[in-house]
Amino acid sequence: MIELRGVNKHFGDLHVLQDIELTVGRGEVVVVIGPSGSGKSTLCRAINRLEPIERGTILIDGEPLPEEGKGLARLRAEVGMVFQSFNLFAHKTVLQNVSLAQIKVRGRAKAEADAKSRALLERVGLEAHAGKYPAQLSGGQQQRVAIARALAMEPKALLFDEPTSALDPEMINEVLDVMRQLAHEGMTMIVVTHEMGFARASANRVVFMADGRIVEDRAPEDFFSAPESERARDFLSKIL
Ligand code: ADP
Ligand code: MG
Repeated sequence: MIELRGVNKHFGDLHVLQDIELTVGRGEVVVVIGPSGSGKSTLCRAINRLEPIERGTILIDGEPLPEEGKGLARLRAEVGMVFQSFNLFAHKTVLQNVSLAQIKVRGRAKAEADAKSRALLERVGLEAHAGKYPAQLSGGQQQRVAIARALAMEPKALLFDEPTSALDPEMINEVLDVMRQLAHEGMTMIVVTHEMGFARASANRVVFMADGRIVEDRAPEDFFSAPESERARDFLSKIL
């Protein structure tokens, strides 16, 4: 579903993605972990073409990333992204936030989009909040709206970049519950997270990044019980 071959990128002198090889199959859940600055966000952004790459190829469902225009908008709809900072439109209601791209990118009629939005809001437990503005919701609720908005495009895959890092502890689980449910239903997901419980329970693989490289790519039970690299052992000793 998602395939990266020999992907490289620099920011000035910093080689932020080095020869990245990564394949994520349909229905797989891959958790990406690693120290701050190791390139995890850049990797997610590259997959969605929010960051240009210098060398290598990225295939989504067997197709190379389109450069620009309509193809790119469609790609971004097919690979949904959920950010740490929610990125909701502050001046639009919850319902409008979930409906907008369905109308603009998918070309759905407003009534059809709103009906789909309401069904998705119900799925993330927010049907009663459709008429509110983001500022009237908690962080956990806002992040669930962001997930509903991504799902509204019927994506082939979802990328999550530290979706719970900005949340108060008591709100983390309500977001992880939605993500666990999606994983269970067979959604293809790449999840950058420090939530090791989620990684153990829901990931098919854990990818450990350090200094722009994928250092380990293994089943969670193997990774957590016996990390192969010194970098991963050191990282795990700090967070577990
Ligand atoms: P992570 O998500 O693993 O913390 P990032 O992908 O955000 O890492 O960043 C990797 C490295 O690239 C960091 O050293 C960061 O400072 C640098 N970086 C990220 N974005 C930019 C940018 N737009 N311009 C210059 N350097 C950047
Ligand atoms: Mg990051």
